[in-house]
This record gives sequence, C-alpha cells and structure tokens, in this order.
Amino acid sequence: MLLAGKCAMISGAASERGIGLATARRMAAEGARIVILDLDGEAAVRAAASLGEHHLGLRCDVTKADECVAAVAEAVAACGRIDILINNAGITQKIKLLDIDLADWSRITDVNLTGVFLLSQAVIPHMQSSGGGSIACMSSVSAQRGGGIFGGPHYSAAKAGVLGLAKAMAREFGPDGIRVNCVTPGLIETDITGGMLTDEMRTEIRKTIPLDRLGTADDVAGIFLFLASDLAAYVTGATIDVNGGMLIH
Ligand code: NAD
Repeated sequence: MLLAGKCAMISGAASERGIGLATARRMAAEGARIVILDLDGEAAVRAAASLGEHHLGLRCDVTKADECVAAVAEAVAACGRIDILINNAGITQKIKLLDIDLADWSRITDVNLTGVFLLSQAVIPHMQSSGGGSIACMSSVSAQRGGGIFGGPHYSAAKAGVLGLAKAMAREFGPDGIRVNCVTPGLIETDITGGMLTDEMRTEIRKTIPLDRLGTADDVAGIFLFLASDLAAYVTGATIDVNGGMLIH
C-alpha cells in the first residue's frame, strides 16, 4: 500500500462525481486516512462515511482563514498529523473578460487561488513539526493556454497563480521535507461544467485530444496519488499535465 499510515486532507472532495472524491477513494484504497473538506458539510460527512469507518468529513470554506485553521485543528486532533494536502476545491465561470465584474473576479480568485494559500498556510506548520509532507495543488490547462473551455480569464489567472504559489512554496519548504507540486488537467467529466457539456461539444473537443477521449476523475486521482506517495520522493515544484495531449508543450 502506497499510503499506509498516512493522513490525507483533500479540499472540495464531497462532490459525488468530482476529482476530490475520486482522489479520496484512490488514497483510502492505498491505506490513507482521509479528511474530506467541503463547503457542503453534510455532503463532506456523507462522502467520508462512504469511504469506510475511520475517515473524517468537515465543513470548510477554503476562502475563510478561520475555517481553514479550525478544520486543520480538528483533523490534527483526530488523526495526530497531516501528511498529505490536496488543494482541490475550485469553481469556474464561463464568461468573457469585458463581462467580468469585480464580484465575479473576487469569487473565482478567492476559491481557486486564495483558498490554496489559506489552507496551505494552516497545514504547513503541522507538516513542519511532524517532519514533512506532500502538498499537491489543482491548477488547470486553462492556466497554460489562456482558457480551457469552461473557464473565463479570471479562472485562467487564478489557476496560473496557483502554479506560481506552489513553486514558491516548494522552494521555501523543501528544507522542511515538504514537497509541493501541481496538476494541470484538461477537460475532465465532472459536475463543474454545470451540465453545459453537450454531446456535440464533446465530439468537437475530442478532435483536439490525441488520446481521443475526455478525462475522468480517476485519471487525475492517479496523479495525485503518485505525487502524495514516496514514488515522488524527489519531485517538488513540478507541474504534471493530465490532458490526453490536448496541450503538448
Ligand atoms: P466539482 O464541482 O465536482 O468539485 C469541486 C468541489 O469544490 C465541490 O465539491 C465544491 O462543493 C467544492 N468547493 C467549491 N467552493 C468551495 C469552497 N469555497 N470551499 C471548499 N470547497 C469548495 O468539480 P471538479 O471538476 O471535480 O473540480 C475539482 C478541481 O479541479 C477544481 O479546482 C477545478 O477547477 C479543477 N479542474 C477541473 C477540471 C475539469 O475539467 N473538471 C479541469 C481542470 C481543473
């Protein structure tokens, strides 16, 4: 088992078809005790229970510093330590630049970028005192090519910010034994698209993907598992594309 005895906290992991819960299942199957955080506390508790007995589900809005600190304290009280943090929570909005107002800008950057900062800041002192850990942050192909398909410019900016923040954290906390990496998925079939993905769009998008299919939540979960595990013991500051070849650079 790749994660025996480890405790893994995953944000935004209550959504049934989401990447966070797929990652939680994958990591639990490798022996980790999982702490699921989500805006929807009841869904977080249900999701944790669906993994088995020893897992924890907590409400946490990653845009709120006090909620991040409280959730981390509760997780540490229950598990003794946090070895793995997956900064996965995110939201998107399909919109053009001239239509973005300040409220849109703040909402998208708060969850996708500030949330990564706040939750990492709450977890890192615990990783430092327990001798290290692994943090993986959710970015997107949208950060690399200036827009995916469902993200507006504010989403691209926030996800690009995540790449810079993760690299800076990798540099600063490497000496503490904390590795920090990013994942940049292409189009993954989850509920984040809010039902906007039609069969016609799917067919058109597939023509741009060398592997000739859209991604699944499990495709991304496998990479988060790798980054969290000792298989990636010498990997930090890296960005791993999970996009079927949609962007090759
Ligand atoms: P999803 O909507 O299924 O999952 C997102 C989860 O984040 C939900 O459970 C939601 O409740 C939670 N969340 C939202 N705001 C939150 C907050 N403030 N605090 C805590 N939790 C919050 O979508 P998904 O596709 O699984 O998305 C997971 C991550 O992957 C997101 O960061 C997204 O931007 C990123 N991503 C998705 C794709 C894709 O094509 N699906 C591609 C690249 C990156």
